Amino acid sequence: MSFFLWVLALLLQGDKEKDLPPAIAISGVATQEPVVALTFDACATTKQANGFDRKVFEILEHEHIPVTIYFTGTWAEKHPSAIREIASTDWVEVGNHSYSHSRLTLLRPDRLRAQIHYTNRILERTLGRAPLSVRPPAGAWNQDVVRAANSEGMPLVLWSVVSGDAGGHVPAERIDRVVLEQAKPGSIIIFHINGRAPFTKKALPDIIAGLRAKGFRFVTVSQLLHLPDAVPIKAKPSRLGYAKLKSRQPKGADDGAPAPVERPPGEMPSPPTSPAPAGGPIENSPG
Ligand SMILES: [Zn+2]
Repeated sequence: MSFFLWVLALLLQGDKEKDLPPAIAISGVATQEPVVALTFDACATTKQANGFDRKVFEILEHEHIPVTIYFTGTWAEKHPSAIREIASTDWVEVGNHSYSHSRLTLLRPDRLRAQIHYTNRILERTLGRAPLSVRPPAGAWNQDVVRAANSEGMPLVLWSVVSGDAGGHVPAERIDRVVLEQAKPGSIIIFHINGRAPFTKKALPDIIAGLRAKGFRFVTVSQLLHLPDAVPIKAKPSRLGYAKLKSRQPKGADDGAPAPVERPPGEMPSPPTSPAPAGGPIENSPG
């Protein structure tokens, strides 16, 4: 190959790489822009449909805040009327939260890819738009999960601020305080909209007002990742997600959740022996 062709190939390769999702699990970005991404998980398993927090949806709609909602395929299948309503909005970015809320780190490679691929098809069909990122259930991820998301052209996205809304263990005032204290430019903040986070609707208006008072604007996850100066921040690897981290780092911002119902094989249930830690739970069972 001539030197010219070699340089050309290198340049083209560089351009191509710019469009590829980062080969890491992203917890947030470093940026100078005063923006944060509010994200809401709509978790359900094949056995547990969970619900839809209409009030949360109405608050966001009324404020016209761009948000990213991570749906499991099962949630989309079990809430057709909510899905139709969400499909008619222009402020919801769609994310993929797997099909059945399994811990993706424990699946065979073909099952792992199917969880992402099949859910993409369901969400495209029911919501009329393609999911733009993947959020692994319980935050359980390893490099195989990153690769599986990347193979669909999608980044793997976790979070940097845990609202602690899931399960109702953390009162609204503390959810407000944690989010307002911890939010910084480039933060990805996790909430839930699946009917298992009773205080989100109470906390949300003050969070929105408080973040605006601090000068923050709201963007979707893909808008955050595409900011001109955004540098993705790598999330801490976590093979089993919050259940495993609970005992190890009870005060961390991205851990400390109640034991999930959906357990990896061989892991013994261990009920919490102390009140919810300051960070609060990430996701209630089944997340
Ligand atoms: Zn979840």
